[in-house]
Amino acid sequence: MFLRHPLLTRLGVDHGFGSRTSLLDREDPWTFRQVHGTRVVEVRGRTAADRPEADGGWTSDPSATVGVFTADCLPVLIATPGGRFVSAVHAGWRGAVRGIVPEGVRCLMDASGCGPGSLTAVIGPSIRDCCYPVGPEVWEEVGRLHPDFRRDNKEDNRLNLPSLVRFQLESMGISPDRIGEIGLCTVCHPDLFFSHRGMGDSRKGQSMLNYIRCSN
Ligand SMILES: [Zn+2]
Repeated sequence: MFLRHPLLTRLGVDHGFGSRTSLLDREDPWTFRQVHGTRVVEVRGRTAADRPEADGGWTSDPSATVGVFTADCLPVLIATPGGRFVSAVHAGWRGAVRGIVPEGVRCLMDASGCGPGSLTAVIGPSIRDCCYPVGPEVWEEVGRLHPDFRRDNKEDNRLNLPSLVRFQLESMGISPDRIGEIGLCTVCHPDLFFSHRGMGDSRKGQSMLNYIRCSN
């Protein structure tokens, strides 16, 4: 089963946020050797034998499917009007703080000429503040790179990854009503998702595929 979001469905964009039981019924998607960096690469046509090192991809080629794997990290799917240019990115705390999601947005704006106000972005399932206490080194980096980001409760050491990414998207000029969220925590829903933190070694490297494909 893939979870879908009405903001992207309404654009006519084929997409899905993976669960434990998702199988992709089509040719292989482009995926990446994900390294918690901020590199987003263009992909076209059939997948390469050697996966590029990157944490996201974008395309305007309807024959290419772009995918990222997650198991607590945050997948974000982005599309221009009509879904003619699309991007999928993978954001753990490190990549999120350093700007992988804004990089995906920039790639689409540069390639399509569209302004941020016309873009749609959907934030997928991930670990959320309910389950994500982080150390001072994380807050130090958040504070240094995003001094205007306000956490809900200053005494609280739990990071809300989706809320940081929403802050970045809105800061870039994406309209709040074009930012969607699936809103589910991967740790809180072990029946639905694989979770790095929740499952430990029993996860055995399993993760969810999240994909997007541009419209014809
Ligand atoms: Zn949770």
